[in-house]
Amino acid sequence: MKSIAVLGGGESGIGAALLAKAKKLEVFVSDFGSISEEHKDILKNKNIPFEEGGHSIDKIESADIIVKSPGIPEEAKVIRHFRLRQKTIISEIEFASRFYTGKIIGVTGSNGKTTTTSLIYHLINNADAVVGIGGNIGYAFSRLLLDDIDYDWVVLEMSSFQLDDICNLQIDIGVILNITADHLDRYQFDIDRYADAKWRLAEAIRPNGHLILEKENKMINTRLESYRKDVQVHRLSAINPMITLPSKEGSDSFEIQLKGKHNLFNAAVAVLVARLYGCSDAQIIRNLSSFKAIEHRMELVISHNEIDYINDSKATNVESALKALEGLNQTVIWIAGGTDKGNDYQVMESVVQSRVKMLICLCVDDSKLRSAFDKIVDKIVSVTTMREAVDLATKNAKQGDVVLLSPACASFDLFDNYKHRGDSFRDEVLKMTGESNK
Ligand code: ADP
Repeated sequence: MKSIAVLGGGESGIGAALLAKAKKLEVFVSDFGSISEEHKDILKNKNIPFEEGGHSIDKIESADIIVKSPGIPEEAKVIRHFRLRQKTIISEIEFASRFYTGKIIGVTGSNGKTTTTSLIYHLINNADAVVGIGGNIGYAFSRLLLDDIDYDWVVLEMSSFQLDDICNLQIDIGVILNITADHLDRYQFDIDRYADAKWRLAEAIRPNGHLILEKENKMINTRLESYRKDVQVHRLSAINPMITLPSKEGSDSFEIQLKGKHNLFNAAVAVLVARLYGCSDAQIIRNLSSFKAIEHRMELVISHNEIDYINDSKATNVESALKALEGLNQTVIWIAGGTDKGNDYQVMESVVQSRVKMLICLCVDDSKLRSAFDKIVDKIVSVTTMREAVDLATKNAKQGDVVLLSPACASFDLFDNYKHRGDSFRDEVLKMTGESNK
């Protein structure tokens, strides 16, 4: 391989371009949309040619291989064009892996990837080996390899889009946390296609490697029936998650600072990975208790007048919002809604009925939420600003209640992204409770 064309000038495209340049390959970056000023500056600094606002097919054609950014759908004209011509197209993670000789821990799933990847890193990072973290979180894998550090291990969060175009990547310890409906718009609204993309991680485990799976997941279990025999498979329960670590007092129970049963499952997975990696129980215990919730994921913003305000803005699909509500024992004022991704709220009916006293629809189109919960929740109101949402929630909350932002939808109708939505929630809550002036 002497030259590559990189499609997409986002984090992974820039990472791949920089790594290619560092490895003395010819590289050309092409983006159909616009490239951020920051990324253009990086490319200019390194003398990497690029284009935006369209693709020069000839220039891309002349490269030995194409490295595709995860954001580009299979239906994109440029991808269809090169697939027809059987040009080699690989993902950025696949490209990076060709320049890496250390070991890989790969984490995928519909929900919990970032939490579990971060927790694994937190648990094993204090050990002797040099460990990196990246992929769908922080820096792209390629960018990690630009550091002057020789990583012994990397922990990579992998989305289904990143797994779409892997071929020779070899994973030492792999995790598929769960497979539930998400991003179906990218998979012809066929959950099996989406599940197959996730399952690619299982196929990428090296012989005698380890694969950790959710025990009760139907999509996973169907695929497991015909799975390879040269991988050690570990099935952990998400319904009854258990971390069995000896505490100092000799009891088996363990305190973690994360809310919800789903996080206990994430922690159980991370602990198993840490054990397989070689951490001692004492090490795991020490690091597990110091891990705090990541921003926008069941993050306690504040307890004010005995009302908990929880920011779970990253809950962008039904399953994650379901888990958020299931993880709470209190009465909830639930702020939900946004851009619908083909949601089916039926699975939430009973938990909403038992926990939610008021639903605040924060979105442009509230029709689906209203028709799903009209007969279930006593009070439903609709607003289009976070200020109104927090104001109404505060006025209606009583001591012991939880005000939960867990939208079950993407954020793009009213916000730039889930972070913007979560930050707005935090700002409004702190203003409303007078804590922002302290
Ligand atoms: P991802 O990176 O897969 O999007 P995150 O760790 O960022 O996952 O969490 C996204 C959302 O999913 C949050 O709302 C979080 O509370 C919820 N969540 C986390 N872990 C799980 C899990 N194991 N099952 C279901 N929902 C989860």
